[in-house]
Amino acid sequence: MPVTDHTSNVLAALLREFPLRARLERLDPDVRRTYGAIVSEWYGTAAPPQPPKFEPSHLAALEQADAVVVVDAGIGCYPFSAAPTGIRVTYLDRSCHAMCAIDALAIPCVIGQSATIDATCNACRRRLTIAVGPRNGSLSIDSNDIAVTHSGVSVMYAPKAAEHGVCNRQLCPLIVFVCDECADPGSADLLSVAAATVVAAQFFSFQRKYLPPKASAPEHA
Ligand SMILES: [Zn+2]
Ligand SMILES: [Zn+2]
Repeated sequence: MPVTDHTSNVLAALLREFPLRARLERLDPDVRRTYGAIVSEWYGTAAPPQPPKFEPSHLAALEQADAVVVVDAGIGCYPFSAAPTGIRVTYLDRSCHAMCAIDALAIPCVIGQSATIDATCNACRRRLTIAVGPRNGSLSIDSNDIAVTHSGVSVMYAPKAAEHGVCNRQLCPLIVFVCDECADPGSADLLSVAAATVVAAQFFSFQRKYLPPKASAPEHA
């Protein structure tokens, strides 16, 4: 699908409200290497990395930048949540929770693997399933290569404040899946799942440079 003005506006809003890539680029190279290890472990295993494996000062710097979220279950790292969120992503033989709706759509795009997302409508709680897969043999940030299959699902992106503290507490809860019956078609906050996938892929594509080459290889390569 084409990148519309609306899609670019949402991407710009997300980059303004949560400038993750820019924040990481300001960190020490050693800290960025630790970030790479954490994000690679997440994509590779879909399980939360555990804090003792990492240098405490690096973890503290990453937490300070809101690049990771440490909870009892381990280290959450956008788009992956270490705590349950109600948005489950299954890819390869792995399953995990995503921080929010856009984060869930990012996971298959970053690693080039098909995925199934199980979530509930944020308003009526009905179960929703979204399949994200390659259209032309590969998944990439080129939106024409992404096929999203679902019935009656949209994404609401409703943040209003310009500044956020911790993204997963303040921003992610406002980025949700809704069913067609609950979606207000006139709402400026409504995004199609396909448009939200484009936003997700573009926002998170920088993570590929932190992954080992094999982890980001397209599944049909
Ligand atoms: Zn609903
Ligand atoms: Zn999020």
